[in-house]
Amino acid sequence: MRLILLGTPGAGKGEQATRLSKNFRIPHISTGDLLRREMEEGTEVGRRISEFVNQGELVSDDITQAILENRLREADCRSGFILDGFPRNLNQADFLRAALARMQAPVDVVLNIEVPDSTVIDRLAMRNRRDDTPETIRHRLKVYRKVTAPLVDYYDRAGILKRIDGDGSPEEVTKRILANLARTA
Ligand code: AMP
Repeated sequence: MRLILLGTPGAGKGEQATRLSKNFRIPHISTGDLLRREMEEGTEVGRRISEFVNQGELVSDDITQAILENRLREADCRSGFILDGFPRNLNQADFLRAALARMQAPVDVVLNIEVPDSTVIDRLAMRNRRDDTPETIRHRLKVYRKVTAPLVDYYDRAGILKRIDGDGSPEEVTKRILANLARTA
């Protein structure tokens, strides 16, 4: 099973990806985590990445795509994967489609986790991440609406989008996802 999780920052993608990863025994690939790891290692690329991340901007496509493609080529992805935080714009979606076509491993389902704005703000306020200042949060939401939200349409037109009500406890949301996936399995 190859899945993409879409949703605004704070929609609960990371939490759901972790839970689904355990359920299906497939890796959870978070580009945010991969980029943060690169930053922690203090490499030259890591320094370039931190300039974007600390402003709430998207990291440039060439850097993000290279890191993602390397990860997808690791052996554990052969049984499937859950993408959390990638793609973030249409260019990345086209890149992913081409890369996975080359690997003969197309995406099966895209889950859009939908939550009301008020819930998003509450959830982000409860996290404790370095790039979660009120200013960067506002900026990330703006970037999301402008460049990431069009992906919902993109995958809807491809016929693989499922909309999930993300308001509720993590357990409730996971249950909804599993029930929805079972309907098409
Ligand atoms: P996340 O952990 O998904 O909230 O991502 C944290 C930060 O990493 C984002 O605000 C971006 O700066 C960067 N990032 C994560 N995924 C991507 C991506 N697919 N493209 C560009 N930047 C990304």
